[in-house]
Amino acid sequence: MNIVIVGTEFGGLAASMALVHKLKRQEIQVTVISDRDYFLFRPSLVWVPFGEREIENLTVPLTTLFHQHGINFIKDRVLNISAEQKVISLLSGQKITFDYLILASGASLDFSKLRGRKRQFHSFYTEPTAVHTRRIVHNIQPGNSVVIGSSKQNPNPLPAYEFAFELHHFLQKKSIKANLSFFTAEKSIASFYPKKLQEKVQNLFTEKNISVYENCDIQKVQKHHIILSQNVTIPFEQLFVIPPYKGASFIYSSDIPHDNGLVTVRNTMQSIKWEYVYAVGDGATILSSTWMKNGHSAEQQGVISAKNVLSQLNNKQAQATFQPSLMSLMETGSDGGILAIHYKLFHLELSGLIPHQMKKIFESYYLKKVELFGEA
Ligand SMILES: Cc1cc2nc3c(=O)[nH]c(=O)nc-3n(C[C@H](O)[C@H](O)[C@H](O)COP(=O)(O)OP(=O)(O)OC[C@H]3O[C@@H](n4cnc5c(N)ncnc54)[C@H](O)[C@@H]3O)c2cc1C
Repeated sequence: MNIVIVGTEFGGLAASMALVHKLKRQEIQVTVISDRDYFLFRPSLVWVPFGEREIENLTVPLTTLFHQHGINFIKDRVLNISAEQKVISLLSGQKITFDYLILASGASLDFSKLRGRKRQFHSFYTEPTAVHTRRIVHNIQPGNSVVIGSSKQNPNPLPAYEFAFELHHFLQKKSIKANLSFFTAEKSIASFYPKKLQEKVQNLFTEKNISVYENCDIQKVQKHHIILSQNVTIPFEQLFVIPPYKGASFIYSSDIPHDNGLVTVRNTMQSIKWEYVYAVGDGATILSSTWMKNGHSAEQQGVISAKNVLSQLNNKQAQATFQPSLMSLMETGSDGGILAIHYKLFHLELSGLIPHQMKKIFESYYLKKVELFGEA
């Protein structure tokens, strides 16, 4: 019996930790496949362009950790999956068979959907782009027009907000007066928040003198202009964009139903076609349900998929279901941060220095939790 997990970030790690801690039967093998042999705490990538973090402070090596917990770890790239035959083909030529599969392979940025000059915009969503963006940020000159935004089909615009506020703070500290503009494809600013926090975010933009364009998606990027819907054109010297999402490329050559590469699942996190195939986190899409795609949701879904696999192993139905909740921490530059928790009957909203400190504590806690493999 082999349970295979693809991916080693919030979703994949949560699933592997939950399985290992609950599995007692020795004959069950857990195999983790990932093209990376380390965990990266992505929420802190937003600090990398401003020199407040180095990538090596945000990572935990995983190979030894997996072996210590009896997990067979394969560092390789998945090329395609036959769910029907229960076989995964890897770049190295290896073929791995599975009885249950949990896909936590995330989403990739789809620059092809942005028409225009690819080299004109920068991102901070991955390690290389965050490091590259540091150089761009340090080259901003007084009077420059800087545009930050999040495009349509990206289910988590929050990092774009954080980047805008952190950039404002960074330039303020360096006494550089640049003209900052922010756009979002959301119908209204911070639509993922309850009304009161939406107003809070709007007020922060006003106080910081950042021009805001809502309900605007990218139409075209020209050499020094970005053209948005609603006939908005903004000139820029620097442009930072969160592009649209698509699923991991191997999903397109597999027999697993998906929407734009995001595996279509039920709220048990099972594929709509294959009940022994699960998908969680950024790389999944649940039929008729939306949720904020973030580390918190990916982690919850990883645990749910592990529980359901364990039920199936015991010849029971997969019963654990994902109920969307909001749990987010947003950095807001010199103002600290915003915490929003809306979970069943528990609601908490806070802004100021405490959420900022909480984000830092959460980073240390999570990295420690990974080092201790869930026993923090
Ligand atoms: C700048 C930034 C700030 C953020 N801030 C927050 C925040 O404050 N709070 C929060 O909760 N979330 C935040 N997020 C979002 C959060 O990081 C993601 O939602 C989360 O990482 C998704 O986890 P995942 O496990 O679904 O996938 P991913 O993190 O995308 O991981 C995918 C895994 O699959 C592996 N993989 C992919 N393709 C293959 C393949 N073909 N073969 C083998 N392995 C493969 C990858 O190596 C990786 O291990 C932020 C993200 C960014 C970028």
